[in-house]
Amino acid sequence: MWDEFVHQSLPMRVVFGAGSSARLGEEVERLGLGRVLVLCTPEQEPLARRLADGLGPRAADVYPHARMHVPVEVASRARQAAAEVGADGCVAAGGGSTIGLGKAIALEHGLPVIAVPTTYAGSEMTPIWGLTENGRKRTGRDPAVLPRSVVYDPELTLTLPVPLSVTSGFNAMAHAVEGLYAPDASPIISLMAREGAQALIEGLPDVAARPTDLAARTRAQYGAWLCGAVLGATTMSLHHKLCHVLGGTFDLPHAEVHTVVLPHVVAFNATAAPVLGAVLGPDPGGALWELATKLGAPRSLAELGMPESGVAEVVRQAVASPYANPRPVTADDLTRLVEAAHRGERPT
Ligand code: NAD
Repeated sequence: MWDEFVHQSLPMRVVFGAGSSARLGEEVERLGLGRVLVLCTPEQEPLARRLADGLGPRAADVYPHARMHVPVEVASRARQAAAEVGADGCVAAGGGSTIGLGKAIALEHGLPVIAVPTTYAGSEMTPIWGLTENGRKRTGRDPAVLPRSVVYDPELTLTLPVPLSVTSGFNAMAHAVEGLYAPDASPIISLMAREGAQALIEGLPDVAARPTDLAARTRAQYGAWLCGAVLGATTMSLHHKLCHVLGGTFDLPHAEVHTVVLPHVVAFNATAAPVLGAVLGPDPGGALWELATKLGAPRSLAELGMPESGVAEVVRQAVASPYANPRPVTADDLTRLVEAAHRGERPT
């Protein structure tokens, strides 16, 4: 029961369903675009070429140079490439790295982005951009970078390797979890967060067992959409703060860090945010840790490459700037939490 809230919806157009990438041309046309640049990582170039072929003359070119965390040099070369071919929009076909590159172009040149997501990271549903320079990632919010249309085709996720599917799914669940106790949550956000987390909790084991099962992939991507929408609409708390510090300081892989840290933050916040128990069960942190274990995901920051000596630095950075959290956090609390995550212990 909600007594008080503020709710503001972001504009959102989603075309969802197996085979829906065949309708990309309709979305390009709907936005009145005639020369889109199709962005992707080098590994996903065949997919991008297929999409560009389907667009015919409306595709100006394919730009297969997206990289993790959007280095400023990569963004600058991509903006130049877009200008050289006279692009009037971008199609970002891939995960958070590719969609992040589309956002970087939109941020400076205002070109509309159509996203075709192939992971569960959720960037396509947010106005959040990120750029990395000299090893430091800057992020910000700007409505100009929010994709104008998002085409979710679960068939494109069939090739997402199981380990990345699992960690990407945990990355998505982290958005839902922190949306449940966000200071700016609302009844609609809460419904989306519950439904999104549930779809992933049910869908991920099936994806891990049968990666080419389209029904399982559809369920997982449906959950990822909702979780991404929650991320786009709310203020994230301790978990996202810690992951940002850990990823930035030790150059750790994004989705894997989320997977390791989430059960620990959930266990820490469980008493202050009873909604976690209502959604994830009486031992919510333990339940997520068990799920990660069952799905073969990494569980310790040590195995991701974080040195044990780094705990103090993480704690220093995490307490240095204030952020929302349902439970007050002391440096001692954080030290215990990060040490447990570093060792890969079951959270208590
Ligand atoms: P990613 O985009 O870096 O992709 C990881 C790898 O998987 C790449 O090599 C890619 O080519 C490959 N891949 C992607 N989809 C595939 C598929 N279907 N089949 C086979 N291979 C596939 O990973 P990610 O986790 O999606 O994105 C991480 C990045 O996104 C981070 O930089 C993170 O900060 C950012 N992010 C931003 C937001 C936001 O709101 N701005 C939200 C979430 C994540």
